[in-house]
Amino acid sequence: MPLEECRIPVTDLAILRGIGVFDSIRSYGKNIFALNEHLERLKESAKKCGIEADSIMKELPAIIKKGVNHELAPNKDMVIKPYITGGEINDHGHFPKPDFFVIFEEAHVLSPEELNNGVALRPVYMQRPFPEAKSTNYLTGYVPMIGAKPNEFEALYIVNGEITESTASSFFLCKEGRIITAPVGKVLRGITREILIQLLRENNFTVEERCPLESELSQADEAFISGSVKEILPVIRIGDQTIGNGHPGPVAKHVHKLFLSNLKRWM
Ligand SMILES: *Cc1c(COP(=O)(O)O)cnc(C)c1O
Repeated sequence: MPLEECRIPVTDLAILRGIGVFDSIRSYGKNIFALNEHLERLKESAKKCGIEADSIMKELPAIIKKGVNHELAPNKDMVIKPYITGGEINDHGHFPKPDFFVIFEEAHVLSPEELNNGVALRPVYMQRPFPEAKSTNYLTGYVPMIGAKPNEFEALYIVNGEITESTASSFFLCKEGRIITAPVGKVLRGITREILIQLLRENNFTVEERCPLESELSQADEAFISGSVKEILPVIRIGDQTIGNGHPGPVAKHVHKLFLSNLKRWM
């Protein structure tokens, strides 16, 4: 149905208490990218949050496949967002009767200008709560953006000097020929992150799964963030710290090309 006609009861715990998880899946035309990987993560997110989603998870693959081919679906690259809400029952942190919906909309992909210019990130000195869940609650990423500069794209979480991830992206630092990214457990298991690590290792890059340190930023050659809709986006400044020469570099560009040329493997 058209999105404007979709309704959810005001008594759902997603509204009353912010209990909900979701995932964000990209399609290239009608080809869905890494569907199984995303659904597996959605299941993990629900589990981490006490949402009992087994029966919903069984329904989702067919609904998503039907949705992308529906006459109302945009005839463009899409973002498909399955949401699982807490529903109306809170049984001591268990949510036994969750509800769900799936949004299909045109993917707002980055402009060539955004890719060529790169973006800045705004440091925020805290941990994203329950990092292994893709929760609908983004307050920790949004509140620190009050007063952000126009080119500050997302908040970058830094915990005790360790860089984890940004508001809705995985973070990578390039230094001395190595590519460094935080380990799962401290960050969400980004699907793009996982695919990039695999592709980089296949292509003889050295990938270190540890948190990049804030103190390493001044020696970094490049940085970039990744996510299903944004793919790979160069980062040129973090707070007041310029990254490398302040312009997108060759590694981020190469990684993006590598990603695009391997898309079919995950369709
Ligand atoms: C969605 C998200 C990501 C990126 O994950 P992908 O699966 O690559 O889209 C990374 N970190 C956070 C906090 C996110 O919400």
